[in-house]
Amino acid sequence: MSAPDDARSDVRMEDLVSLCARRGFIFQSGEIYGGINGFWDYGPLGVELKNNVKAFWWQRMVRERDDVEGLDGAIITHPRTWEASGHIANFSDPMVDCRLCKKRFRADQLEGIAKCTEGRGGEHSLTEPRDFNLMLETHIGASADAASVAYLRAETCGPIFTAFKRVRDASRQKVPFGIAQIGKAFRNEINPRNFIFRSREFEQMELEFFCHPDESAKWFEHWRSVRLQFHRDLGFDESNLRTRPHAPDELAHYANAAEDVEFLFPFGWQEIEGIHDRGSYDLTQHTEFSGKDLSEFDEQSKERYVPAVVETSVGADRTTLALLCNAFDEEELEGGETRTVMRFSPRVAPIKVAVFPLSKKLREPTKKLAADLRKRFNVFYDESGAIGRRYRRQDEIGTPWCVTYDFDSQEDGQVTVRERDSMSQERVSADQLRTYFQDRMDAL
Ligand code: ATP
Repeated sequence: MSAPDDARSDVRMEDLVSLCARRGFIFQSGEIYGGINGFWDYGPLGVELKNNVKAFWWQRMVRERDDVEGLDGAIITHPRTWEASGHIANFSDPMVDCRLCKKRFRADQLEGIAKCTEGRGGEHSLTEPRDFNLMLETHIGASADAASVAYLRAETCGPIFTAFKRVRDASRQKVPFGIAQIGKAFRNEINPRNFIFRSREFEQMELEFFCHPDESAKWFEHWRSVRLQFHRDLGFDESNLRTRPHAPDELAHYANAAEDVEFLFPFGWQEIEGIHDRGSYDLTQHTEFSGKDLSEFDEQSKERYVPAVVETSVGADRTTLALLCNAFDEEELEGGETRTVMRFSPRVAPIKVAVFPLSKKLREPTKKLAADLRKRFNVFYDESGAIGRRYRRQDEIGTPWCVTYDFDSQEDGQVTVRERDSMSQERVSADQLRTYFQDRMDAL
C-alpha cells in the first residue's frame, strides 16, 4: 500500500461508501445475510454510472475505429487457455496465515493490517509466505472429478486469444488490428479491500492489439496516448492522474514495456489501468498448446511471423470508484449550509436531467416534457418537497441539469434550466430543450 502521505484528504472513503449505499450506487452483495466479502451490487444509479463508463469505452475503442473488432467471450474459457497463458502455474499472490487468529493476509500488503485478536499485544504469529493461486475453480457437468475442473476467467483476455483467428477471418481484418472486450473477471483475492477497488468479482475492459513485433513499440505509444486521453475525457482532474512505467525488474520475462495509469485515491496512488507490450508471448503459447497455427504472412518480406500484442486493460469498477472519488465535493454555501455535490462529467452522470413541476398542479405538462426528454436522455422526474430540496437531492447524485416547469411556462412556453456546478439558471424554450442538452453533450 502507498504511504499515507501520498493519500488525499479532501474525500474520505467512509463518506463515499455511505453515500453510495444511501443513494443506491453500490452496496454489499447479500446485505440482508451480512454481506459476502469482495462482492458488490450496483444499484439503480451505480449501474447507470458504470454502464456509461463501459459505453464510452466501447465507443472510443470499437465504434470509432476501423481497426478494432468487438467480442463477448465466455466467462468459463477452455481450461487449456489458462495452462497456455501460465495462469494455472503462476497466477498467484504470496499469502501468510496467522497461527493464532487464523486470518489470512497478502504477504506483500502487511502494512496497516488489523491487530491480532488472540496474540499478546495484538501481535500476529505469521507463517512463511506461500503461493496462493487466484483462479476461481468450478466443475462442469454432473461429476466433480479432476476431468471436470474449469476456471472462471481471471482476466477477460483469454477468449480474445482463442478467438483471434476466427475474428480475423470473419471480419476480414489484417494485422495490425485489435479485439476489444468488456466483461466479468474473477480472482480469489486474499484480501479484498478498499470498497470496490479490490474485489473478487469485477469487470474489465480490455483491448488486445495484434501487430508485427517490429512495430509493437510504436503501437504501445499510440495506445498509451489514446488511453490517457480517454481518462481525461472522463473528467478526471489532471492532478489526480499519472502514469508509472514499470522498472525492468517488474516486467514479465516476455514483456517489452509496461505502464500503469494511476489515480490518486483517498488511500493513495493506485493502478486503474495497465498498458503492456507483451511481445509474441500469447500467440506463441496458444499456437503451442492448441497445435493451431496462429501466425501471419508478411506480404513484404514474404515471411511468416507470430503477431505481438499490445494490451490495454482497465477495470470498469476501479474506474467507477475513481470517478466517484474525483466527483465528490462538499461545498460551503452562503448562509453556512453545506451541499454535497458529485461533479461528474455529464458524459458519465447517471441521470442527465431532472424535471420538476413547481407545483403538483403542473404535473401533466411537466410529465409530458419529461417523456419527450426521455427519448434521448436518462431523466428523473420529481415532484416532492421544496424546489431547493429537490436540487440538493440531484446535486448529491451528480445530475448536471435540473429543469423546472412553473406557472409562467404555461404562458410563455419557457422553463428554467439550472446548472449543477455554477447553480446558475436560465430560461429556455421548452421545445428547444432536447437540442439544448444535446449541444452541451456534443461539446464535451
Ligand atoms: P493489482 O496489482 O492491483 O492486483 P493487477 O496488476 O493484478 O492489479 P491487472 O492484472 O493488470 O491488475 O488487471 C488490469 C486491471 O483490472 C487493473 O488495472 C484493475 O483496474 C482491474 N483489476 C484487477 N484486479 C482487480 C480486482 N481484484 N478488483 C477490481 N479490479 C481489478
